Amino acid sequence: MCLNKLISLFFFSFFMTKDNEQYLASRVLTKPSVKAQSTVIMIPYIICVAVQTDRNAVQSIWPTHAIPYLISAELRKQSSRTNDILSATRMVSDQTCVTFHLRTFETNFLHFKNSPGCSSYVGFIGGDQAVYIGSVCTVGNIAHELLHALGFYHEHTRMDRDSYINIIKNNIIKGTEQNFVKRHGDTLNVPYDTASILHYGRAYFSSNGSPTIVPLHTAKDMGQRERLTQLDILRVRLLYQCGV
Ligand SMILES: [Zn+2]
Repeated sequence: MCLNKLISLFFFSFFMTKDNEQYLASRVLTKPSVKAQSTVIMIPYIICVAVQTDRNAVQSIWPTHAIPYLISAELRKQSSRTNDILSATRMVSDQTCVTFHLRTFETNFLHFKNSPGCSSYVGFIGGDQAVYIGSVCTVGNIAHELLHALGFYHEHTRMDRDSYINIIKNNIIKGTEQNFVKRHGDTLNVPYDTASILHYGRAYFSSNGSPTIVPLHTAKDMGQRERLTQLDILRVRLLYQCGV
């Protein structure tokens, strides 16, 4: 599927490194107000690419802590997907004041839909807001997308990232450099976190198997998709004023 009506997807998906480790990089969608200007390119291993404008590291937040969701019929047919989505929502709700509940009549809601990869808009869009969930998306990947939907960009795109990581541009797949562009915005004074569930791993978008991100200091679990870190939890609590 190519999401050709949506502007500025950055990223993708799914490629193999030399050691055959699979990496899943998320696609982030910006607000759909500029749909008509969208340009989509097809390249190998990557589903769709378009250019994203520079935006804040933190996007608009939901006007509520209780976020309604729907799971598409197609996803509900796939036995484990509903459980995985619910597990991902619990990763967020168990440790913050943000909760998720099945939509009844609410106008604004997250809508989990089937897709080849994982992707989400960044922040509150309003209305039927899609979160795309592919068969390759783990529970951690889905939690990563939920943090995008709550308003967060990737951790490695922070303006202060050069104090913590080096981006090796020569190793990045041509045409995907947008995924590494810094973004101005409010970091909520939360320290940089290489272990964040929103941080890319060492070889994401590598054209040759060599690193695209090299940490400057010891960086345990960079690119992990197993858990929200304490700093991930803190940033959600701060953004949604959970009372830290
Ligand atoms: Zn992402």
